[in-house]
Amino acid sequence: MRQGWLPLGVLLAGLTVFSGCAHAAETVEGWLTLQWGDGGPESPGNHRRVSLTDDTGQTVALSVSDELLRGGVFRWNGQRVRVYAPSSGARFSADGAMRVRALELLGQPSTPAAVTGSQPWISIPCKFADIADEPEALAFFEGMYANQPGGLDHFWREVSYGTIDVVGSIAVDWVTLPGVQTDYVPTPGSGTDANLNKVFDDCTAAVDDIVDFSGGGTPLVGINIMLNGSLDCCAWGGGRFATLDGVTKSWRTTWNPPWSFANEGIIAHEMGHGFGLPHANNFDDDGNPYDSPWDVMSAATGYAASDPTYGALGKHVNAWHKDKLGWFAPDRRFEAMVGEVTSIELDHTALANATHYQMALLSISADSMYTVEARMREGLYDSELAGDAVIIHEVRLGRSEPAWAVDADMPPANYGDNPGTMWQPGETFA
Ligand SMILES: [Zn+2]
Repeated sequence: MRQGWLPLGVLLAGLTVFSGCAHAAETVEGWLTLQWGDGGPESPGNHRRVSLTDDTGQTVALSVSDELLRGGVFRWNGQRVRVYAPSSGARFSADGAMRVRALELLGQPSTPAAVTGSQPWISIPCKFADIADEPEALAFFEGMYANQPGGLDHFWREVSYGTIDVVGSIAVDWVTLPGVQTDYVPTPGSGTDANLNKVFDDCTAAVDDIVDFSGGGTPLVGINIMLNGSLDCCAWGGGRFATLDGVTKSWRTTWNPPWSFANEGIIAHEMGHGFGLPHANNFDDDGNPYDSPWDVMSAATGYAASDPTYGALGKHVNAWHKDKLGWFAPDRRFEAMVGEVTSIELDHTALANATHYQMALLSISADSMYTVEARMREGLYDSELAGDAVIIHEVRLGRSEPAWAVDADMPPANYGDNPGTMWQPGETFA
């Protein structure tokens, strides 16, 4: 639908396997996982946790800078790493996290970020021992995975062009945790210190007699923990490295208070974190990653289609996110070459069986690029977008939210539904 001239850049490829200074340090090896926290109505804001699980199954929180996660979270999340921690002095921060001086990637999986094929999840509704409420019934959680409009199987198929589905996903009925709410969350509804590992361990143990996480050889990939009360500030999504029914791996995991599963777009957002996606953002650099309505990984419920049962639904993710997860067929992605001046035609993002490109990528350096995509109010999940537009993302891998929707307005808008963000035919970005 769109034509546009693309500026040219230099394509650089590189693989950083070491980040930081390892001088005078002790090392710990293990599996690194990330968890993203999304503030709810009571405690807006966003948070990120990084943790390491060693070969004995012990998990320790890491205090690690964005700079050390050089090359972006996709490079490190779920990977085997060597952590260099101070050998003396303040090895742990005040909140008990191990300070990290350097990180080393052990092994080099060829496509660590790709997510393809069936992705069976399980929803486990878990009650705190002192809260009797069951906010939704089993049928609600079962139906949420349907391959019908509004169901998560249908959603992920549309968003990934059929590259993934969630076939095999199941839900079980409410089970009760051994502890009361404050055993897991010191200050329900606020703070950032919910004991997510304990919630995970106790919630999965509570269904151990009825759930085979190994799937008889086809293990579940993810666990949506549905709670009947608040956690801390947030709903959380990411990974938890653990052994369940003999399967040791980083389980895609979400931790959801009731306000999270009240709108399926939030569950889609948390599952997106489970698939390894960070937040997307608009262009105003205000520290709030929830103000781009062009990605469920930003404004999860903004400009969303709605469902009478499941509330605000998810929308598509931006082209860079899809590309990282391996969801574009090679002939659907255009990568600008050095010295090339060309004109291309883009089909819109939500179109299944497209016949033109659906994304253009312009590399500036190993850690910096632009992506271009066309968005139209089509399909189910993009049907309520702010309008039809070309969206350009500036991607910098070292940022907490690598992809920012470029806004030509000065200053950039507080929310990315403005004309400056919504590029139209005839406009030039240079
Ligand atoms: Zn999030």
